[in-house]
Formats: sequence, C-alpha cells, structure tokens
Amino acid sequence: MLKKLKYPWSVISVITTESIGQEEAIFEFFIAEKPFEVDFTPAFFYETNISLSPDNYAQFMIKMFDLWVSKKNPPFDIRFFRDVLYILGYYNTEKDQIICELAGMCHRNISILTNGDVYSCECLNAKPSNKIGNILSETFIKIVQSESFVRLSQITNTYCKDCLSCEVFFVCKAGCYNRRLPNENEKSRLDFYCDARKKIIHHIIDWIENSSTKTLQPLEVQNMNYRRQLTEPLIFNR
Ligand code: SF4
Ligand code: SF4
Repeated sequence: MLKKLKYPWSVISVITTESIGQEEAIFEFFIAEKPFEVDFTPAFFYETNISLSPDNYAQFMIKMFDLWVSKKNPPFDIRFFRDVLYILGYYNTEKDQIICELAGMCHRNISILTNGDVYSCECLNAKPSNKIGNILSETFIKIVQSESFVRLSQITNTYCKDCLSCEVFFVCKAGCYNRRLPNENEKSRLDFYCDARKKIIHHIIDWIENSSTKTLQPLEVQNMNYRRQLTEPLIFNR
C-alpha cells in the first residue's frame, strides 16, 4: 500500500549469520522493492549465540557499502553509511539530524509499551531494570524529569576511556548503549561491535580518500556534533 501511494517507506533489515555471503542478493532484493531507506542492523541479544559475530557484521557491512557506492545513483539510502558520510561532510543532501547509534544520544529515543511502561529506547525493553516509568501512573514530563531518567541519561553519555581516545570516536560516538550496557559496577563498556565499527568506518574513510579527486581535509572535531565544517564542494552527489 505504501508503495502504491508512493510513500517514502523505510525498512530495518536484521543481519543474521545466514545473511553472510548473501549481500548481493539482499542488495538486489531491495533494489527491486524500492524502499526510500534501509537500516541494516546486526542480530543481537545479550550474551547469546543468536548475536551476529563482529567479524561477520564487518564483512557484511563492508561488502554492502561497496555495492551501494558502486551504483552511480544508489537506489535507496542505507542509514548507517549515509550518516557516516554526513558526519564526515560527504553527503550532498539536506538533513537536519542523525538519530540512533551515530547520534551519541541514546537516551532520547523514548519508547512507550502497550502497558504504559516507558523506556529511553525500544531496544532496552528486554531488561526491566532499564524502565524509567509508566505513563499510566505519571505524566510524561514527570518521567523525563525523574531521577531515574536523569541518571540513565548520564550513564548513557558516559563512555569508557578506550572510546574517548579512539580515532573514530567523532563518527562512532561509542556505538549503541544497548550493546555496551554498564556492568554491575556501572563501568561503561565497549560496544559489542567495536572492532567491526572501526573497520567499517575506516573502510568508508578510505573510500572517500581514494575515490575523491579532491584532497580530504584532516578529520577533526569541529563542534558539539563532531561534524566537519564543509569547506569545499561535496563529492558524494546523490
Ligand atoms: S540504545 Fe541503540 S538502538 Fe537505542 S538509540 Fe541508542 S544506538 Fe539506537
Ligand atoms: S570504534 Fe570502538 S572504541 Fe572507537 S568509539 Fe566506537 S566503540 Fe568506542
């Protein structure tokens, strides 16, 4: 129906172990389906073997990136790649925000369950200790002003020292809070996909450097959002 109405629909596509080696088929599938945007996200559940391995995640995303940029006019957006390119200043489109894992603000994706329970992100629903209130017994304003929400916001934005000294932190922003939930001592941990994220981000930076006719300016932290200032024409024109 959305297709019939020509509505720009988006899809979240979960990458599982079975997806590995099927990148081209998956890419062709979405070309035929014509979504506006696809968000590839790794299957993940705390300390279980259903989680996609970091190596497999890196392999899938790097292959998918190469397929995506091999098209002169990629037929759909891939959110992670588009956001990385945008942060690096190489995405020629109007865009006013980055959400989710490259935003560095995991506490702002408020999720309300059918029983009224409120979480700061829907992916945190699986752990009741992440609950910040219930909309049936208190107002939304009260919930976001509550001590538990403020505390959660602070924990969410507390990064481990490896992230703070990481060369790609300004892009990665420490990853997904759900995949780096603090341990019992409330010590921040690395995203389960840390190594994979490093590989993927470096691969994109390498692609920019090698495919550009212009010299990529040194990457540096420019402002609160760690965005590069755009000082020259963009190369990735879609
Ligand atoms: S916790 Fe994960 S899924 Fe939720 S907003 Fe943060 S990055 Fe996105
Ligand atoms: S790549 Fe790893 S160390 Fe670097 S910011 Fe991301 S999660 Fe942290």
